[in-house]
Amino acid sequence: MQINKNFQKIESSYLFSGIAKKVREYKAANPDKANSVISLGIGDVTRPLAPACIEAMHKAADEMANAETFRGYPPEYGQDFLLEAILQNDYLARGIALDKSEIFVSDGAKSDCGNIGDIFSNDNVVAVCDPVYPVYVDTNVMSGRAGDKTENGWSNIVYMPCTAENGFLPQIPDCHVDIIYLCFPNNPTGMAATKEQLKPWVDYANREGAVILFDSAYEAFITTPGVPHSIYEVEGAKTCAIEFRSFSKTAGFTGVRCGYTVVPHDLKADGVELNAMWARRQATKFNGVSYITQRAAEACYSSQGKQQIRETIAYYQRNAKTIYEGLKACGFTVYGAVDSPYVWLKTPNGMGSWEFFDLLLEKMQVVGTPGEGFGPSGEGYFRLTAFGSAENTEKAVERIKAYFAK
Ligand code: PLP
Repeated sequence: MQINKNFQKIESSYLFSGIAKKVREYKAANPDKANSVISLGIGDVTRPLAPACIEAMHKAADEMANAETFRGYPPEYGQDFLLEAILQNDYLARGIALDKSEIFVSDGAKSDCGNIGDIFSNDNVVAVCDPVYPVYVDTNVMSGRAGDKTENGWSNIVYMPCTAENGFLPQIPDCHVDIIYLCFPNNPTGMAATKEQLKPWVDYANREGAVILFDSAYEAFITTPGVPHSIYEVEGAKTCAIEFRSFSKTAGFTGVRCGYTVVPHDLKADGVELNAMWARRQATKFNGVSYITQRAAEACYSSQGKQQIRETIAYYQRNAKTIYEGLKACGFTVYGAVDSPYVWLKTPNGMGSWEFFDLLLEKMQVVGTPGEGFGPSGEGYFRLTAFGSAENTEKAVERIKAYFAK
């Protein structure tokens, strides 16, 4: 037996496990401060599910208790009621014509962003933003598409720096690439892209025969008019883009697990529809999302569900504003927050991002995420998230303000 040696190329700890370890060690060494540590680090939600979702789940669980209404294996691509709700609300209502057969319900965007690589040759050249959600890179390393690790990152990956200098928007590559990962609103920078800013990417991909893998996991946080919620709002995207969506940040489903991926029929390569390939892949390796979960996801689109979800998003948006304005008031250069639950800040006095992590933890008992963990261009930046409680968020910001006012 031989193992997949690509796994040995990857650092053993995922960024957030590394952070969790540092926090554990700090708490063990400082038991008197252990209880006052506030995490504005990991991107997990904290508010409970919308009552409409809970009610739908209870009802669905009761259906499972009766032979007449019991459900076994779900359809691989999603229950019709959920596909219909997604189609109507997320696409048709925004003027995007799609067919239900172009939507694939899954257990979340992370799985789909990782698994999508199955349908592409390992010879493709991948381009990612830098900093980046680590899943895009690591899954390509695992499959052998990333090449070898060098001082400048993976040898076969094209890195597109996103820094304050370019407004956190990547430059179109000046070479040919095949697979482009874009995520807007962005994790980690919290910055959004307008239709006009995305259009050149769609044009590039159509011209080069490339595919855009568009991660729209944070679309529910968009407030700025003109910022598209879907890549298909950009003309020409149906022939070059796959879109990933998630109920995780939209409706607090990080623990429930549900998302979906759109693969338009118009998207073809080598004369083959990528839709058919993804359908084949899912039917072979995935057995669908539980009925109870899909009923909960459907409830997000009821009028009550929509209202309740909006309230929760507004709660996190207030936190984002608290962080953004609090830090700005004490002299930090801050980005993001407007269309996103993430605040991206420039570390003060040229401090390294891990150095700033240690300072926040040790002096203020606040946990964030060092920008460097998202890629080399994240060095000198730091991410705070709006997913904590309002009380903890305010407390954390007060501590930061008090420390830096000194
Ligand atoms: N995509 C991005 C950009 C994310 O930041 C995350 C989670 O933090 C995900 C996808 C994962 O989404 P899901 O919970 O649906 O797997």
